[in-house]
Amino acid sequence: MLPIDLTGKHALVAGVGDDRGFGFAIAKALAECGAKISIATWPPLYKMFKLSLEKGRLDEALTLRDGSKLSFAAIYPFDADYDRFDDVPADVREHRRYKELGDFTIGGLAAALAGEGVDIVVHSLANAPEVKNPLVQTSRAGYLAAVGTSAYSFVSLVQQLGPLMRRGGSFLSLSYLASERVFPGYGGGMSAAKAALESDARVLAYEAARKWGHRVNVVSPGPYASRAAQAIGPVDQMIEYARRASPLQSAVTADEVGATAAFLASPLASGITGTVVYVDKGFSAMGAHVVG
Ligand code: NAD
Repeated sequence: MLPIDLTGKHALVAGVGDDRGFGFAIAKALAECGAKISIATWPPLYKMFKLSLEKGRLDEALTLRDGSKLSFAAIYPFDADYDRFDDVPADVREHRRYKELGDFTIGGLAAALAGEGVDIVVHSLANAPEVKNPLVQTSRAGYLAAVGTSAYSFVSLVQQLGPLMRRGGSFLSLSYLASERVFPGYGGGMSAAKAALESDARVLAYEAARKWGHRVNVVSPGPYASRAAQAIGPVDQMIEYARRASPLQSAVTADEVGATAAFLASPLASGITGTVVYVDKGFSAMGAHVVG
């Protein structure tokens, strides 16, 4: 047996706001391997998510293979648009979903985690206000917002959490093939944000290794009907097309992404950094799609 053993490791998964996304599946997979799990949740979803947990609405989704229930060591309110509290505009601070949450910035998260001992950080979040606009109709503000939330936030996380983590830590982010191929409908600058994210991951892999001995990798899954994907457009059509055109003719599952994330975070992947791993049933390998 060659186990994925994360016993004694503490993982922080940023971008968990319900039980339907990749972040939740990754948190579960890391827990299945023995890691302690903390999550960071976007303030607009924070109270609702905590309430769902308290009311037991997620109990079934939280059940692990051995029948035990995943419980989070901490749930941090977290807005990846802000690096430090001084950057937060007054209207956001005063917003009913933000006030009373304390410091929800990346700096606030780092301060909360200081002294906690962190080994694994997963960045499973993206946002673009103009995602429904074709690139040619995207404003400068919309484009920069997409890149800021979806790519720079990963740089900032590595910058601010890297020094706190135990040596040999693992960072992971999630990208999409739209970084290198055209997917009509994936607009608003999101394709550029994913391209930046993948490029940054390579540079960060070098810098974080030399500074702290950490690894930095990216997983690129095929289409999946998360809340975020459903907000972009007809994801079911995308899933069906990918299913029919991929070498392996089945839809990608969140569990497959979770398992890959757990492997990459584990000592078994100690030689892997600066890579993009496709969890897409081989879709990205094809030059011409044979839709069967
Ligand atoms: P999801 O809705 O579960 O996750 C996205 C999360 O980002 C949400 O929890 C949302 O609250 C959070 N978020 C948005 N703006 C934020 C901000 N400013 N600060 C903090 N959190 C913020 O959807 P998902 O599809 O699981 O997305 C997770 C990652 O997977 C994203 O990077 C996405 O681009 C990537 N991905 C998704 C697909 C897909 O088809 N679903 C395919 C490839 C890659």
